[in-house]
Amino acid sequence: MSTIKESLLRFRESVQPQATLVAVSKTKPISDLEEAYAAGQRHFGENKIQEMTEKWEHLPKDIHWHMIGHTQRNKVKYMAPYVHLIHSIDSPRLLKEINKQAKKNDRVIDCLLQIHIAREDSKFGFDEEELIALLNDQAFKDYKNVQIKGLMGMATFTDNHDQVREEFQSLAATFEKIKNDELLDSRHNFTELSMGMTGDYEVALEEGSTMVRIGSAIFGARD
Ligand SMILES: *Cc1c(COP(=O)(O)O)cnc(C)c1O
Repeated sequence: MSTIKESLLRFRESVQPQATLVAVSKTKPISDLEEAYAAGQRHFGENKIQEMTEKWEHLPKDIHWHMIGHTQRNKVKYMAPYVHLIHSIDSPRLLKEINKQAKKNDRVIDCLLQIHIAREDSKFGFDEEELIALLNDQAFKDYKNVQIKGLMGMATFTDNHDQVREEFQSLAATFEKIKNDELLDSRHNFTELSMGMTGDYEVALEEGSTMVRIGSAIFGARD
């Protein structure tokens, strides 16, 4: 077994020329995050607001915290003061709440819209039609405290790499379409495509990922 530091160095070499490496530390103890921090890691991903907030309180303040999990609206307020990027916007109501809490904190919060690309019902996200409806909605256009930086998607959990590749290609195509059709005001700076995890990040990078979210290959398997 390699250490957290060794795994991080390996990933940096393969990922970082092209994409940001988000170390997914959900369920892992603070000591593991400290080890990654000591090895220079500054982007961490968590999927529960309460757990992320406890870690944020204990760890150095130059860490960039990424929320990657399905989020309950009544908890957004706890991360609004510090969260760096929310990858998992999966409903217009959630975006509305984030805009509201960002405004209260006098900040603009960076967000990714999650797109449903997997052939599994259990994954969250917009389909392309819902996405375009959102971007054309006047209420959305009036949100001044959120910035839409790009899209996020999770492929089907399968060993079939052709299927995973097709799903990432469909996400990348949606990303290009939004960018080229100028559906978003230029203040949004739409540049990020968050796709790829331990099992499929290589395919994701080949299909244009700018951000990979790697957990178990850095920190070991989760219970
Ligand atoms: C847990 C999780 C990851 C990381 O998964 P690994 O397979 O451990 O790399 C990435 N993205 C999301 C949304 C997750 O919930």
